[in-house]
Amino acid sequence: MIPPVDLTEQFKLIQAEVNTAVAEVLASGQYINGPIVKTFTEAFGRSVGTDHCVVCNSGTDALYLALRALNIGPGDEVITSPFTFIATAEVISAVGATPVFVDIDLDTFNIDITQIAAAITPRSRAIIPVHLFGRPVDMGPLLDIASRHQLAVIEDCAQATGATWQGKPVGSLGHVGCFSFFPTKNLGGCGDGGAITTNDPNLADTMTMLREHGSRVRYHHAAIGINSRLDSVQAAILDIKLRYLDQWNQQRAAVAQRYATLLSDVEGIVLPQAPTFGQSVWNQYTLRIAGATAEGQERNQIQQRMREAGVICMVYYPIPLHLQEVYQSLGYKPGDFPQAEAAAHQVLSLPMFPELDAARQEVIANTLKQVLAEVGLKAAQYC
Ligand SMILES: *Cc1c(COP(=O)(O)O)cnc(C)c1O
Repeated sequence: MIPPVDLTEQFKLIQAEVNTAVAEVLASGQYINGPIVKTFTEAFGRSVGTDHCVVCNSGTDALYLALRALNIGPGDEVITSPFTFIATAEVISAVGATPVFVDIDLDTFNIDITQIAAAITPRSRAIIPVHLFGRPVDMGPLLDIASRHQLAVIEDCAQATGATWQGKPVGSLGHVGCFSFFPTKNLGGCGDGGAITTNDPNLADTMTMLREHGSRVRYHHAAIGINSRLDSVQAAILDIKLRYLDQWNQQRAAVAQRYATLLSDVEGIVLPQAPTFGQSVWNQYTLRIAGATAEGQERNQIQQRMREAGVICMVYYPIPLHLQEVYQSLGYKPGDFPQAEAAAHQVLSLPMFPELDAARQEVIANTLKQVLAEVGLKAAQYC
C-alpha cells in the first residue's frame, strides 16, 4: 500500500537529533515559552525574511490573530478563495466579519486575481490569498489591487512554507504571513503549531499580546485574547526540521518532476504546472480528471479503484466553501463559482512526500494509467 503521505520515513532520518532535543526540553522543565521557543521563532523569522515573527498554536490561530490585530470584525468583509481548507474562511467568521468568495483559476487552483476588483465593496478590509498546494499566488497584481483599495493582505501560507514569488519567500509579501506546522505541512511538527510573520512592529506586538490572553504584562489584560503558544517541545522539533526544509522541498520538486515525466502522455488528465514567477513547494501533487462531471463520480470511481489497487489518493477539496452547510446563510448557490466547483469535482492528489522514490512513483503512474483505461472502457460501454 502506498499512502498519500508517510511521516514515519522522515522521522527515522532525524530521530536521534529529535530525541536528544526533546529530552533536553523535558529535563529543563520549561515546557511553555522556554528558550528554544525564542530560538525557533528567530530562525523561522529569518527564513521568511521578515522583521518579526510570532509563533502560536496553529495555522488557524495565526490567521485569527492576524485578523484580530488588524481590527477586522463585525460589518467588515474579507475576500478569499472558496477552494481552500475551511480554516481560511472560518477565522473570518470567527472574528465576526463576512467572507466574500472570489472564484479560482482552474489551472493554478488559486484565487483568480482578475475577479477580485469586482468583489470589493466599501466594507472590504482585507484579502486572504491562499498559496494552495504549495503553489504561490502571483502576488504582484494582487498587491496592486490591495494597495489601490487600501486592503490588508494576509497570506495563508499554511501549505507553502518555503515557496517563493519573484525570489521572495511567501509570508514576506503581504502585511502578514500565516503558517501552519500541522504534521503534514511542508514544515510540520509532531503536533499542532503555527507562526505569523510581518514587518509591522505594531501588528507583531498586538498579535503577541492577543496570543497571551490579551496581556503584555502578566496579569494585566488590555484586550480579550486567546491562549495560543507554541509548546517548547514542538519548537525544539521544528527548529531541527527547519534545517532540512530546503532539502525536503527540493525532494518534493523532484517527485513532482518525475510525476510530470511519467504521466506526460496520459490522456484525460491535466497535470499541475509549476509557476513561472516563483517556486512551488509541492505540498500536494494535484491533477485534474479532465472529463469529470458535475457530481465527480468519475473522479471518485478512479480514487476508489486506485485504493483497491493499493495507492491511496486524496481529494482536496470535495466541496467548495461557498456550498458548505455552515455557509448557507451567506446565500451562495451552485454555479456561483464554476471554476472552484469544477476543481472540487475533478481534483485528485497523488501521494506526495519528500521520501517518495522513483520505484513507487512508477507503480503509482502505472496504476493510474490502468485505472483510467478501465474507467474509460466502462464509460464507452454505456454509450
Ligand atoms: C492547514 C491549513 C490551515 C490551518 O492550519 P492548522 O495548523 O491546521 O490550524 C489553514 N489554511 C490552509 C490552506 C491549510 O491548509
